[in-house]
Amino acid sequence: MSEQAIFDVFIIGGGINGCGIARDATGRGYSVALAEMNDFASGTSSGSTKLIHGGLRYLEHYEFRLVREALMEREVLWAMAPHVIWPMRFVLPYHKGGPRPAWLIRLGLFLYDHIGGRQLLPATGTLDMTRDPAGAPLKRLFTKAFEYSDGWVNDARLVVLNARDAADRGAQIMARTRVVAAHRKDGRWAVETENMATGARATVRARMLVNATGPWVDQVLAGAIGKNDVHNVRLVQGSHIVVKKKFDDPRAYFFQNPDGRIMFAIPYEDDFTLIGTTDRDYTGNPADVRISDAEIDYLCSAASEYFADPVTRGDIVWTYSAVRPLYDDGASKAQEATRDYVLRLESQNGEAPLLNVFGGKLTTYRRLAESALEKIGEAIGVRGGKWTAGSHLPGGDFPATGYDAEVAKLKARYPFLAKPHARRLVRLYGTETGRLLGSAASEADLGRHFGADLYEIEVDWLIGQEWARRAEDVLWRRTKLGLKLSPAEAVELEGYMRDAANAAA
Ligand SMILES: Cc1cc2nc3c(=O)[nH]c(=O)nc-3n(C[C@H](O)[C@H](O)[C@H](O)COP(=O)(O)OP(=O)(O)OC[C@H]3O[C@@H](n4cnc5c(N)ncnc54)[C@H](O)[C@@H]3O)c2cc1C
Repeated sequence: MSEQAIFDVFIIGGGINGCGIARDATGRGYSVALAEMNDFASGTSSGSTKLIHGGLRYLEHYEFRLVREALMEREVLWAMAPHVIWPMRFVLPYHKGGPRPAWLIRLGLFLYDHIGGRQLLPATGTLDMTRDPAGAPLKRLFTKAFEYSDGWVNDARLVVLNARDAADRGAQIMARTRVVAAHRKDGRWAVETENMATGARATVRARMLVNATGPWVDQVLAGAIGKNDVHNVRLVQGSHIVVKKKFDDPRAYFFQNPDGRIMFAIPYEDDFTLIGTTDRDYTGNPADVRISDAEIDYLCSAASEYFADPVTRGDIVWTYSAVRPLYDDGASKAQEATRDYVLRLESQNGEAPLLNVFGGKLTTYRRLAESALEKIGEAIGVRGGKWTAGSHLPGGDFPATGYDAEVAKLKARYPFLAKPHARRLVRLYGTETGRLLGSAASEADLGRHFGADLYEIEVDWLIGQEWARRAEDVLWRRTKLGLKLSPAEAVELEGYMRDAANAAA
């Protein structure tokens, strides 16, 4: 990269917030560079519960602004990316003597139905669990339930599609590029980057710097930017377990634990159930976060309070853990710390401006980006206006309720594809699946087979279009085929990807 290029905005961090801001800013006409030290969404943004939700539980903490904004976003985001975001019904079983009285839950759900601009999502209802199929896998104790709507999101893909769209619009998007230092010089930022594959260093100049490094935000402020006395975020670990499918119903469960916490059990990747999450303060390096034995025990035993067939360690096929970068509002318990976001602009005395992003949720990332763009406009001059509501992410340009029709279209064009394969591809790539498959006319045209329904043609797309370089990028972020490939198949894939990266170098 040349030393001369001066970007309007340099963004550190390729999680949902960094990529969302990059997309919005590029679409408004700013020149943008973004550096992610690892793979996109390799931090917190692939370790979430994957809900586009208002956050029923946040009402208890009077977070009305956040809940309203999040509720309003559900249908906006669904329309923007109906391949990776879709509605989900949640069943909240209720029994006398439970942690919350029925009137409180009813009030929460009433607000949920009425403050959030709901148009397509169905309203709250009540269920007789002795008759409804949702009651079947649960203990007989739960005879009643509430049912309400929220959304589901493929979190890692939401991130990479924002990065893709930003790049398609002209942003310089750099994966595996760490920001090692950033200092102000002659009214500009000089940002020093290191290519994590080659070790090559470069200096990039920008008018404004955005620190969107999630749980690393304080580390970057204290390290690369050199600030003293930094303490803005509280790191709160959350872990999930994935078990063999516990139920067939397409609805998810919302469980209330005896300690007052809540937990979800969600249908996951066709054959599995996702259970989580935990909430505990974390002090280590965010990159090293792993589920603990105590968390596994907690999740198994809390879910077993509800399921007639208990959840045991032996059922677990995968776990993941991530760190919430919550703005530190001084709450005493981890689960009470605010989930809202805070944007802080530093631009005193005409010095080059710095915008720090603290907190945020996947659900509110688009609104957070709009707020960030207001600050960017304040700092370096307004360009363009709001544009992302009503836009589509790559592959998302089909009607919100049109997924089945897209699958049928794909099957008509590529009749040799098995139905589950076609469904999986449309879920990941939407209307871009045709570009991915090109002129393939038979299974042989899909190239080398890596296991499950993963073929060379898809891997090459991910390398060429989505910055994938390692097997784990493909198996655990661009897709979740890690749940289906054997360890030996994953090693084969890693070899293929290394050869492809070397050939490109
Ligand atoms: C357990 C859990 C469950 C959650 N569930 C939900 C949910 O259901 N719904 C919802 O809406 N939200 C949920 N969230 C919240 C949501 O996941 C996060 O708020 C969001 O992903 C944070 O994104 P981010 O971009 O700020 O951070 P990150 O995704 O962590 O991105 C920051 C990036 O910065 C990079 N970086 C750091 N330092 C540098 C450097 N020096 N140079 C270059 N790059 C750097 C990192 O590698 C990282 O990729 C959940 C969070 C957790 C932990």
